[in-house]
Amino acid sequence: MNPWKKDFPILFQQVNEHDLVYLDSAATSQKPNSVIEQVAAYYQGYNSNVHRGVHTLGTKATDAYEGARDKVRDFIHAKKREEIIFTRGATTSMNIVARSYAMVHCKAGDEILLSPAEHHANLIPWQQVAKVTGAKLVYMPLESDSTILLEKVRPLITNKTKIVAIQHVSNVLGTINPVAELAKLVHEVGGIITVDGAQSVPHMKVDVQELDVDFLSFSGHKMVGPTGIGVLYGKEHLLNDMEPVEFGGEMIDHVDLETATWKELPWKFEGGTPIIAGAIGLGAAIDYLQAVGMDQVEAHDRKLTAYALNQLQSIEGIRFFGPLENRIGAVTFNLDNIHPHDVATVLDAEGIAVRAGHHCCQPLMRLLGETATARASFYLYNDESDIDQLVKGLQKTKEYFM
Ligand code: PLP
Repeated sequence: MNPWKKDFPILFQQVNEHDLVYLDSAATSQKPNSVIEQVAAYYQGYNSNVHRGVHTLGTKATDAYEGARDKVRDFIHAKKREEIIFTRGATTSMNIVARSYAMVHCKAGDEILLSPAEHHANLIPWQQVAKVTGAKLVYMPLESDSTILLEKVRPLITNKTKIVAIQHVSNVLGTINPVAELAKLVHEVGGIITVDGAQSVPHMKVDVQELDVDFLSFSGHKMVGPTGIGVLYGKEHLLNDMEPVEFGGEMIDHVDLETATWKELPWKFEGGTPIIAGAIGLGAAIDYLQAVGMDQVEAHDRKLTAYALNQLQSIEGIRFFGPLENRIGAVTFNLDNIHPHDVATVLDAEGIAVRAGHHCCQPLMRLLGETATARASFYLYNDESDIDQLVKGLQKTKEYFM
């Protein structure tokens, strides 16, 4: 058995009378005991609001909440803790960038450069910005294997480009985009880059200073942490210039009947009672991943993805999407003319959990010429035996529909 699976209690159960094979981590990851215990410890031992009371429990909760921020800062190597904003998840983080940065900085004639493979959460906020400001959305071309070729993107980055908004890793294809190179190109023309890290931060070492990205958004639940907590990283000078999007609670500094002023970073973006248990759980998730080592996580996930692509090729009638190498965490496919929902249903009867649908990437599905696909996604608690089970399950699916 792989050395980390034992830490994830949910994986030791039967589903439809079979041992569970969980291959849906790109949708949400499972949680290790240490994360579950830390969240329970907060509720059992020191549940209290933060930043407000002077009492002992409140101080302990505040220390744990702010301690989690320091762990995030260290994990993505941000320069300062002020650059780490806790949000509800990647979707909320990207909406804050669109609303609070782009709505103010974009105007008619400006361009926002995107990939057509974006998750809806990094697409629709930009459609809204374009609608309100008159800025134009420009899409990078995708190669036949759905990758991006820098030579073809370079001419699209001009003095008009105010923002490049791109996913670091595709949730459908597992492809890794050249974020550092794009950052360099857009900075040369005075624009900024905002990166959707929902699928990269869980699987690889992401260093915001090395990549030189301006904003990075990600979700705790995809990186062995709880649901309901996410992060917006932003360079301090950009965040300082932005207005908050939610008002009330501890983001407030001074209030009178006509006006109010905000606290400094990072609290000015954290209106209301923050997601205390979520942040503490995310801190525990980071401790867990760092104990394993992100290099180790990445190597494991790349190896499993390559193994899956190789093993699945033995199934007659399977169609893969995306490149055959340099991808991580997910394999997307269709089988003969069987609808992916039917594939997922038969697999579920075998205890195998995969995702089927458009994966919140409808424009990409259209480019692939499919209405939906099946996706198996992997994480550190999976191993080759899970993929072998998937291959057997798909053979059964074929027999069932013959
Ligand atoms: N971006 C990508 C690439 C994703 O895979 C997801 C979730 O599936 C999101 C954004 C949105 O994340 P969340 O629903 O946690 O806000």
